Amino acid sequence: MAKADYYEVLGVGREASDSEIKSAFRKAAKQYHPDLHPGDKEAEAKFKEINEAYEVLSDSGKRAKYDQFGHAAFDPAAGAGGGYGGAGFGDFSDIFSSVFGGFGGFGGGSAYRNGPVQGNDLRYNLTITFEEAAFGVRKEILIPREDSCKTCGGSGAKPGTQPTTCTTCGGSGQVRVQQNTPFGSFATVRTCDACGGTGKIIKEPCQDCRGKGRVSKTNRIAVNVPAGINDGQTLTLRGEGEAGHRGGPNGDLYVVITVKPHKLFTRKGFDLYLDMNIPMTVASLGGEIQVPTLSGTVKYSIPEGTQPGTTFRLREQGVQRLNASGKGDLFVRANVQIPKKLNDEQRELMQKLAESFGDKVSESKPVKRSLFEKMKDKRN
Ligand SMILES: [Zn+2]
Ligand SMILES: [Zn+2]
Repeated sequence: MAKADYYEVLGVGREASDSEIKSAFRKAAKQYHPDLHPGDKEAEAKFKEINEAYEVLSDSGKRAKYDQFGHAAFDPAAGAGGGYGGAGFGDFSDIFSSVFGGFGGFGGGSAYRNGPVQGNDLRYNLTITFEEAAFGVRKEILIPREDSCKTCGGSGAKPGTQPTTCTTCGGSGQVRVQQNTPFGSFATVRTCDACGGTGKIIKEPCQDCRGKGRVSKTNRIAVNVPAGINDGQTLTLRGEGEAGHRGGPNGDLYVVITVKPHKLFTRKGFDLYLDMNIPMTVASLGGEIQVPTLSGTVKYSIPEGTQPGTTFRLREQGVQRLNASGKGDLFVRANVQIPKKLNDEQRELMQKLAESFGDKVSESKPVKRSLFEKMKDKRN
């Protein structure tokens, strides 16, 4: 299929100025943009054609070659005119987005590279104790971060001097690059090497930041950890991340909380759980036990006949609710202790108890005699 004439594709005359070509391109590209014609192959082909035409006609060198040789100037098979210089095959969708990113015209991803950019968000892992999480704590943390340079106010230029507009990219921070693909050739927009994408050239750099406009600093930040926070939760400190670029806002600081486990308590939400050893006699007869809590020991009366595994609830002895009033509860589970060793007297009492219950127990062990007594036996 013969290629359409590039001037016809854009609907401009052979004498059209650069700005006429540009505005014709923008108009035509908007009309045929694939987003407006989903699934329409014809519109897609037309769109590619428009891009290809603009690539050539917007570049004075290529336009001159095209004027002289026509399409053969850019056809590698024709061997004339030098072609496109091996840009390789790119990702088709990337090409589309970068073409339109470069013009800032079509919805998402269209910010100019040298416009204000928000600074990076930072993440800090803060480990606190169980009690600190329960009662809240104020912690000072040290955050190494990129800050705007105070000496030059972030411009990167020596005080008293000004950055100048980059002549390579005209201040846009981007240069258009031709790219060959199986679908034709397209413009891609690349960061300008001369200015690193800032659009500005600094002739006399600021000495404190060496022209970067930013300095690495360690910031001391006070973090108020609220009572009731739990393991894995995150505090967001707005604007405490890295400094923005070119007047953009600072990033945020995310403080991720790790809570150390407690040696007695397990926490679920705002409730606490505790296993307590309770003597068999107390479980059986009832009695007062001393229950540890986060704020000291409290007395608690357990009833007669408490069974192993019974759980008692001590209201409002849990953790302060986060950003709310009230506390969780403390659940105490009775771990009834069976004695492992009995002395002679206890054994005797236990055997009497078994008799009273009518329980069949092992035969009473003979009372152990001392070595001295055994020796006395032998002598007799
Ligand atoms: Zn500076
Ligand atoms: Zn530049």
